[in-house]
Amino acid sequence: MIISFDNFNVSFIPKILLLLRLNLIVIMSDTIEKLKCLIIGSGPAGYTAAIYAARANMKPVLYQGTQPGGQLTTTNEVENFPGYPDGITGPEMMMELQKQAERFETDVRDGWVTKVDFTGDVHKVWINETKEIHCDTIIISTGASAKYLGIDSEQKYLKLGGGVSACAVCDGFFYRNQEVAIVGAGDSACEEAHYLSKLCKKVTMLVRRDEFRASKIMANRVKNTANIEILFNTETDEVLGDGQVVTGVRVYNNQTKEKQEIPVTGFFVAIGHKPNTDIFKGFLDLDETGYIINVPGTSRTNVEGVFVSGDAADHVYRQAITAAGTGCMAALDAERYLAGKDETFEVSTSSYN
Ligand SMILES: Cc1cc2nc3c(=O)[nH]c(=O)nc-3n(C[C@H](O)[C@H](O)[C@H](O)COP(=O)(O)OP(=O)(O)OC[C@H]3O[C@@H](n4cnc5c(N)ncnc54)[C@H](O)[C@@H]3O)c2cc1C
Repeated sequence: MIISFDNFNVSFIPKILLLLRLNLIVIMSDTIEKLKCLIIGSGPAGYTAAIYAARANMKPVLYQGTQPGGQLTTTNEVENFPGYPDGITGPEMMMELQKQAERFETDVRDGWVTKVDFTGDVHKVWINETKEIHCDTIIISTGASAKYLGIDSEQKYLKLGGGVSACAVCDGFFYRNQEVAIVGAGDSACEEAHYLSKLCKKVTMLVRRDEFRASKIMANRVKNTANIEILFNTETDEVLGDGQVVTGVRVYNNQTKEKQEIPVTGFFVAIGHKPNTDIFKGFLDLDETGYIINVPGTSRTNVEGVFVSGDAADHVYRQAITAAGTGCMAALDAERYLAGKDETFEVSTSSYN
């Protein structure tokens, strides 16, 4: 809105005062929002933290990031989250969690945290490069992203929900008594192959090099499992399918260049995860992969008032229910931290009701 002062016979200073009275000048400090509790991420960890924080009167604001609802929005069927005896689709479950968080007046917002500064007394966060927020407590629930091979056919059947998965514990059950393939050579790949071997008729493990990266004990476990076949020096050429579901995988030996097709109904990728924690580098203690290191048994990080929950700190379990559990821990830890800092803030008993 343009206001003309032509009709006002006032000097420069009164003009400024008038603008201030009309609230038409935004003073820099007014653009900085101050929050008791900021939650970064909208997966099961973030929404659970929000439910607890909101019920404890912490007035949480939650930024959803570029994947509202988190990783579960990419899966059809969730059968192992307690409370859904008939299972539920991932997107539906996440909408229910959002609704529950909003029922207690969590302020759920679009936006992406692009920068943080945890060096001073005040924890600073920037949304979409521009908006600055100062927070008493921050709960990081930014999750982790599974790594994929990146070939077109893998991505196609992943998006269709037609037989490509990065989570054997989540999806192995759907391939009972069937034949599956799994790519990977580390401890997680061995563990997932072993898990699948108990459900599936046959597991073919595709290992790029001529040896495992996994520890000897894990490698031996898969080598000694009768229904696991290991193909070393083997890479994936293409995931095969009928346009809807996976029917096989074409692989090649990277030494002999020989190709072969293996009939499978499930194609599992276990080549690691990347925690979404780049923006916290230099402020929080991270392990060599980038997972945030929490004080054992708590959600506390090395910075007071900054807490972590879910897959961003968990390279072991990586399940919705464990993410939700640590989301609850983070909100309770944040609540206690606030109570210790601010005598007027009472620890609510609502969290325990
Ligand atoms: C295909 C698939 C199927 C699965 N199936 C199951 C299953 O059946 N059962 C099960 O228990 N688990 C399953 N999992 C695992 C489960 O999805 C995860 O363990 C769980 O979602 C982790 O929750 P989280 O809240 O820690 O993070 P995520 O769900 O990863 O959510 C992270 C959130 O953080 C946000 N974010 C990230 N960076 C920023 C940023 N800078 N600013 C703002 N927001 C940010 C993202 O937008 C997202 O909303 C599956 C995973 C996949 C990939």
